Amino acid sequence: MIGCRTDDNISNEKDISVRDAFHYYWEENRLKSFTNWPFSDKNQCNPKKMAQAGFYACGSKDERDLAKCFFCNKELDGWEPDDDPWLEHSKHSKNCIFLKYNGAEDDLTVEEHTELITTYFENVLNKKVASVQAKIQKDFNETLATAKSVKKK
Ligand SMILES: [Zn+2]
Repeated sequence: MIGCRTDDNISNEKDISVRDAFHYYWEENRLKSFTNWPFSDKNQCNPKKMAQAGFYACGSKDERDLAKCFFCNKELDGWEPDDDPWLEHSKHSKNCIFLKYNGAEDDLTVEEHTELITTYFENVLNKKVASVQAKIQKDFNETLATAKSVKKK
């Protein structure tokens, strides 16, 4: 039974560089993450299909079947050997833009690649902007609270 770990949530995102954010954009890098994946090529739910469907493995030793979509950040665990990664991805994250491009990385046209990478880049930038805004707002609130407490004295 597949379970969702998190929704797309900015506050859960670590502050990573734009370059690092692109690491799992590439199918080859996603595939490399599945070193401890519990299923092999004999199963439908194999590393190659997982990587093609946008997932990379992100679990610890105790969570060998935890995978995350590089695009929508949806985390899923509890995979079964016969699960279809594309199908499960679309069931649990209907609005993931990556799913619009229904095919392996090599099957995408140049136009589709450009569109996908542009959208992804915008997402990464928007998250960085949101995280900077949140930090500034927090600093501002703290400064304001300090100023108010000083005034009262
Ligand atoms: Zn996704």
